[in-house]
Amino acid sequence: MPRPALRTRSVKRKYVKLPGGRTTIHYKRKKPGYAKCMLCGGKLGGVPRGTPAEIRKLAHSERRPERIYGGVLCPRCLKQKLKEAIRFEIAKT
Ligand SMILES: [Zn+2]
Repeated sequence: MPRPALRTRSVKRKYVKLPGGRTTIHYKRKKPGYAKCMLCGGKLGGVPRGTPAEIRKLAHSERRPERIYGGVLCPRCLKQKLKEAIRFEIAKT
């Protein structure tokens, strides 16, 4: 019986055959889902998919695109939102 923390199905099981002929199970956390755009819900590019421990090993610049709202909005939604904001500013003056 595996220890209680590993009895969940949110860990992946890999059966590994050992040199002595015995088979053991190696456990690995499942990857979380893709990062999604806040507005349209589309998949975000440039945002790696991995467990928090794997993400922590990356450089800051490798974790999300280095533009405003990088890792939050997709480029299409950002373009539209910026245009809207500028139009609003122009209308105000
Ligand atoms: Zn979007």
